[in-house]
Amino acid sequence: MFVKRLDKEDEFLLTHRRNVIRDYQEKGICFSCQNFISGDIFPDNGLVIYEDELVRCQFEKYPRATGQTIIVSKHHYEDISEMPID
Ligand SMILES: [Zn+2]
Repeated sequence: MFVKRLDKEDEFLLTHRRNVIRDYQEKGICFSCQNFISGDIFPDNGLVIYEDELVRCQFEKYPRATGQTIIVSKHHYEDISEMPID
């Protein structure tokens, strides 16, 4: 399996993203929902490969493996078990 080696700038930006997510979580704000408002966590950057009214799928900008994809629901769920199967 190919694993991308991140350069210093990518490491910095990935750490920044983790800190932004942690800050939202500490404030009780859902970072997934917040991302659709601010676009500052997973910006499009031409990485979106599919989007409809329910979900957005995009390649990870800092992938751990080839093709790593982020799938984000446009509806808020506290837990993945709350999501409808379809
Ligand atoms: Zn949410």
